[in-house]
Amino acid sequence: MNRTTLLFTIFALIISAVLFVAFRTKTTKAITSTEQTVDEKPPGGRRVVKTNAEWKKILKPDQYYVLREKGTERAGSSSLNDIHEEGTFICAACKNPLFDYKTKFDSGTGWPSFYQPIAKNAVKEAKDYEFGMTRIEVMCNVCDGHLGHVFEDGPKPTGLRYCMNGTAMQFVKKP
Ligand SMILES: [Zn+2]
Repeated sequence: MNRTTLLFTIFALIISAVLFVAFRTKTTKAITSTEQTVDEKPPGGRRVVKTNAEWKKILKPDQYYVLREKGTERAGSSSLNDIHEEGTFICAACKNPLFDYKTKFDSGTGWPSFYQPIAKNAVKEAKDYEFGMTRIEVMCNVCDGHLGHVFEDGPKPTGLRYCMNGTAMQFVKKP
């Protein structure tokens, strides 16, 4: 390989890398049209911050796995799937109200699904690149607990599907 060929190869590699990064940023942006909640202040300005050791004392092991280690419960395993009564779904860790029963729908996925949060600032969202996919992670906006992901294949009126782990939530029946 002579000097010119080598320089050209290096140049071509740099251009490819730049194009790859630019393309990736563009595709990611396209999917994150739902990201408006990211910088919202939490309800009432309330924040709950605890160490992992403190969370371990409060949460059951399966709750800790989902909420603090961003785990995913087995599809169909949550008792919240079958709840269709009037009430509110709250964060299992900090009790922040997350979803109203009226926005719950049967997505057929085996995970409790909603088309919108109870308030714009109830949850916050972030990009998640795990498993080579670009997904939008949904977290509790008070304690940062992982709840699930949001997808753009939900029903009207929002077209969104908040795919939640039932383990991360509790249901409070309307009195
Ligand atoms: Zn919370």
